[in-house]
Amino acid sequence: MKKLTKRETAGILSKGIPAYLLGYPTAVSFEMTYSCTGNCHHCNMGGIIKDEKRIAPADYGRLMHTLKPVIVQISGGEPLLRDDLTEVMRAIKPKGCSTPYLIVVTNGSLLTEEKYLALREAGMGQLSVSLCFPDQRHDQWRRVKGLFNHLDTLIPKLAALGHDDIVLNSAITRENMPYIMDLTRTAERWGVSISFSAYSVLRTGDRSYTIESPEDLKKLRAQLDELRSYKENNCGRIQNADFIIEGTFDFFKYGEIKPCSAGHHFLVVTPEGYLKPCSMHDKEYTSLREIKRTFVPNNDCGGCYVSIRSYLDKSLPSMVKEYFSTHSINRKKNGRAANVA
Ligand code: SF4
Repeated sequence: MKKLTKRETAGILSKGIPAYLLGYPTAVSFEMTYSCTGNCHHCNMGGIIKDEKRIAPADYGRLMHTLKPVIVQISGGEPLLRDDLTEVMRAIKPKGCSTPYLIVVTNGSLLTEEKYLALREAGMGQLSVSLCFPDQRHDQWRRVKGLFNHLDTLIPKLAALGHDDIVLNSAITRENMPYIMDLTRTAERWGVSISFSAYSVLRTGDRSYTIESPEDLKKLRAQLDELRSYKENNCGRIQNADFIIEGTFDFFKYGEIKPCSAGHHFLVVTPEGYLKPCSMHDKEYTSLREIKRTFVPNNDCGGCYVSIRSYLDKSLPSMVKEYFSTHSINRKKNGRAANVA
């Protein structure tokens, strides 16, 4: 997560801690649509779904009242496909409210400067833009012609507006693992920060994209070590906390990380308004109580290490402790504000 303003931090603490103590999820990912302008190799979605059933903006207001998250991810599919996206965001975060912290996750294919500004106006705190390769291979991977050039022109322009709210999001696979540092340097060149997560076989069933052989793990280790030393000298560019970088390596090495707090600290709402503990499990639930009663006590899954999961395996108080310790260490070290990750 990007650097928080004082107001956002105060909002998350004052509303998040009581909600956490009462058993509400800290974060919710609202999947706006299953349709997507891309069709990526590492993802189970892709293409446009005709006549998809989607809940209306007002329904999101009701869900917020029921679930009370302090962090909300607007995800998909590709959320920018929805014409009513800013209306939905306003239902989730009414004008003037300090929470929830709103993160919009996009592949950027439909993004323009006007849309970026409209998302900010609708309460967005962070724009998370997917980037799998530091060049035109990104187009082939996502199967969107011209996407890399589009981002290469647009993202530096948006970053130059000075809002410091854009984070590239890169899922590490066997294919792009050798380019982790090149992706980092692309973020540097564009003037934004970057966050890495791990590919999960649960998405596609395709093991060829995961990293498991001793030779590949050795290459990954070298890339992650370089990433950590880059992070030491470039405060704020890498959004992953050190424990997440190490967790990512362990996830590939062991093929899983347990326990997982899906359904407890975070959950997903489908475009039709059903609840799911996470995006990789198909069973839909109609209430938080049902998830807590039937899924959470029996969850033995450790099969992904996506960012929402990696952070929220920690409790909200531990996340807050981590945030303040990073904040104070980085301020001492660099004389500037630090990021949550
Ligand atoms: S590890 Fe957790 S978040 Fe990931 S697929 Fe399993 S239950 Fe879902």
